Amino acid sequence: MSAAARIDLHAHSTASDGTLSPAELVRAAADAGLDVVAITDHDTTGGWDAALDALPPGLALVRGAELSCRWYGVEPAIPLHLLAYLFDPAEPELAAELARVRRAREERGERIVRLLQADGIDVDWAEILAGAAGGTVGRPHIAQALIRAGLVATTTEAFGPDWLGERYRLPKEDIDVFRAVALVRAAGGVPVFAHPRASRRGRIVPDELIVALAAAGLAGLEADHEDHSRAERAHVRALAADLGLLVTGSSDFHGTHKTVQLGAFTTEPEAYERIIALARGVTPIASG
Ligand code: AMP
Ligand code: ZN
Ligand code: FE
Ligand code: FE
Repeated sequence: MSAAARIDLHAHSTASDGTLSPAELVRAAADAGLDVVAITDHDTTGGWDAALDALPPGLALVRGAELSCRWYGVEPAIPLHLLAYLFDPAEPELAAELARVRRAREERGERIVRLLQADGIDVDWAEILAGAAGGTVGRPHIAQALIRAGLVATTTEAFGPDWLGERYRLPKEDIDVFRAVALVRAAGGVPVFAHPRASRRGRIVPDELIVALAAAGLAGLEADHEDHSRAERAHVRALAADLGLLVTGSSDFHGTHKTVQLGAFTTEPEAYERIIALARGVTPIASG
């Protein structure tokens, strides 16, 4: 891996709430000049095979997922996202947990739609589910229905407090974060805390939790992310240095569901090499 390699370790496809198919995602990653891209759909490995099949020459694919987790150390519990890289997708306990979360997301999505309908808002669950096309369903899919109904203009507006951000927000049945770290490790994967200081999205966890997670097997922290301010990025880097954790930077690309572009933030080759060295589940695959 050359020192100038461009590595983006967090991107979504239509296997969850991105708008590019897995094949389109890897082509877009190559077009963006990336050397390494990770496919990290929410709670699924469903995009892995299609991404691999379409892998363009010169690009390496890191197979991963972004796990919906929750920390139960405070009341109410705080939701958070755990990136998991290069784990064995056939490990039964982790696979069962992901399937459970996907089912719970569907139930939650349907309940959100019923809340909207009870207020006279014209959205249709079957249509929203069809929009997810078999991928993990999430609020961005409901946001599209609100846009189609002419109620909001953008996904960002749909995530505002009057809509999916607060008034029509329901919790998901997430995975206890300590259990998730253990399951990812047991499946040979490498767990990295996604956007840990993204306070503009909601409540964030205290550093003490990150200290405890590091002791429990957390491998890294995502520092460079559009939802972190400059000060938050510096804080995450300092905390990672204290705890001996690796640091990543990533776009968290969602296609047209967000404005951020592939490669907007990147990971240092040294951190990437550490992830590869820790992984025991599957390996990164480079084509050509
Ligand atoms: P869910 O997983 O159903 O709770 O929905 C959260 C997803 O929506 C995450 O993947 C976020 O990336 C995305 N998201 C959260 N806030 C926003 C926002 N303000 N604009 C666009 N997408 C968002
Ligand atoms: Zn998402
Ligand atoms: Fe996330
Ligand atoms: Fe994400």
